[in-house]
Amino acid sequence: MAKRGSARAVRLNCPKCFSAFTVVAYLSQGIAANDYWKARAEEHDCAAHEKMLTSARSGDASKNPLKASKAAARGKK
Ligand SMILES: [Zn+2]
Repeated sequence: MAKRGSARAVRLNCPKCFSAFTVVAYLSQGIAANDYWKARAEEHDCAAHEKMLTSARSGDASKNPLKASKAAARGKK
């Protein structure tokens, strides 16, 4: 038996931008999980996700914003 209210991380694919992303949620037993995940996939913030991907690729927005700003300052003349 699954524990009630245990956290689950599920990999979803956005139906709009086709990005894969992970949603973590607490599901209680009895919930229509498939409908729930579908709803979560549909409320994906495509614009924010795209922005995040773009900045990750360019390397400007690293995981450490302080380091990134230092690097940017160093690059200035
Ligand atoms: Zn999306």
